[in-house]
Amino acid sequence: MSPTDRAAHARSLARRFATTLEHLRTAHGVEYVSAGAMRPIVGTAVDAHAVPPAQPAQTSQSAQTSQPAQTSQPAQGAQSVPQFSAGLPEQSPTVAITAERTLPRADAVEWSAATKLEYLRTKNIGDCRRCALCQGRRNIVFGVGDPQAAIMFVGEAPGADEDRRGEPFVGRAGQRLDAWLTAVGLRREQVYIANVLKCRPPNNRDPKPEEIDRCAPFLKAQIRAVSPRVLVALGRHAGMLLSQREDMSLRAMRMARLTYDASGPKDAPGARLTPLVVTYHPAYVLRQENSASTERGPSANEIVLEDLRRAIQIAHALPTPAPEQ
Ligand code: URA
Repeated sequence: MSPTDRAAHARSLARRFATTLEHLRTAHGVEYVSAGAMRPIVGTAVDAHAVPPAQPAQTSQSAQTSQPAQTSQPAQGAQSVPQFSAGLPEQSPTVAITAERTLPRADAVEWSAATKLEYLRTKNIGDCRRCALCQGRRNIVFGVGDPQAAIMFVGEAPGADEDRRGEPFVGRAGQRLDAWLTAVGLRREQVYIANVLKCRPPNNRDPKPEEIDRCAPFLKAQIRAVSPRVLVALGRHAGMLLSQREDMSLRAMRMARLTYDASGPKDAPGARLTPLVVTYHPAYVLRQENSASTERGPSANEIVLEDLRRAIQIAHALPTPAPEQ
């Protein structure tokens, strides 16, 4: 075997080992464990040249906590909806970094959603080097918003602005998402926002299947921690991952009644079916508006607002989910 083949073989073994570990961790309910338990699959001794040493991931504080509202009043004409945070502080509390070694993992069942998210970010994801996207990222873009949000949005992957700031949806697509939230009477800090991928793909290309495989467990753990009443997938990648319906077009996913199974390893299968609304990604809507489309009927922007109002109605109709076990 040539040295190149040996290195490729070692990489493949390391990947298989990491995947098996991931499955075991999920199957045995040991999600909130030290990131050290998951070895990096790149930059190992056999593969020292595959990925140059990473800059330690900077995690901007803004990405961990909700930002004060830019617009605290719903826009004129906005549909007024009851506040989901009733009974909670008006502004999400700052997420304290309490998930330290001194916190035994066995107590994870008792942790608040904020603590679970913080543990996931600092200990499980850490300075993630599980796929090659770590080479080009500036920041890991974890998620932002209310850890107990009733509605959770899932986008595709960070772009340049998000990578720079360490916060999802802060560029042009993010401005459009903010406008949508305002139009339906929600504030950004009332919802939770995350992405399928936590690191920016080069030139904003589509996520690769192996990148999604590596990163999706973190999104799934985020969903379990937040335990939203309804999930909103922005775009096809998030829709396909959460619905597991690779056969459906985005249009078909929009029209379908979909659910995401958020059951944890200790739940009975299907115990936590979360309604899933799939709608257009803001970047798609922006592109549509720039193209000289002659299509009749409601615009993509109007369709999204309709979908978001549907998501809000679903959230209102459901009981508050029990906390994750
Ligand atoms: N597009 C996404 O899907 N996510 C972001 O965070 C930004 C743009």
